[in-house]
Amino acid sequence: MAVLKVARMGHPILRQRARELTPEEVLSPRIQKLIEDMVDTMHDYSGVGLAAPQVHEGVRLSVVEFAADNPRYDVTEAQGLQVFINPEVEVLDSTEQGYWEGCLSVPGMRGLVQRPRKIRVRYLDRQAQKKEIVAEGFLATVLQHEFDHLDGRIYVDRIKDLRNLSFNEEYQRYHLGSGPELDD
Ligand code: ZN
Repeated sequence: MAVLKVARMGHPILRQRARELTPEEVLSPRIQKLIEDMVDTMHDYSGVGLAAPQVHEGVRLSVVEFAADNPRYDVTEAQGLQVFINPEVEVLDSTEQGYWEGCLSVPGMRGLVQRPRKIRVRYLDRQAQKKEIVAEGFLATVLQHEFDHLDGRIYVDRIKDLRNLSFNEEYQRYHLGSGPELDD
């Protein structure tokens, strides 16, 4: 088990486009170990997802996992551990949904972000097999947040009105209940 150091906003790795992995690389011990360590890191920080650039690795790889019983989240269905490599997103329903997003790379803060409510994702899994899923609601927002990291974007870039960016304490006091939350 290895918990990796998380890059915080301001670190250049978070602003670079991460590169694709070849199927051979996906199966290599180095990337399989990175996946294990990213899962350990996500669990240690109680995130629902983590992208490789957040642990200083500029490759197109994200992990996602969450339970259905977290009262803070608007989740009806648990998401078992999923590894997304080289994901490609197609918007199926561009109707926007707003979540108060948090990010391990922007500790202590939360902001209201609007994203399309339904997407299809084509990706490679950790065995380098081609997969696709359709995601809506909470999962759709989590995945778009994660995949933004692979393109050098952070959720704060997508806050339309910066009055909806808050420290967690002030969020708890003044904004709680004004929308669902998530933390990657
Ligand atoms: Zn994030």
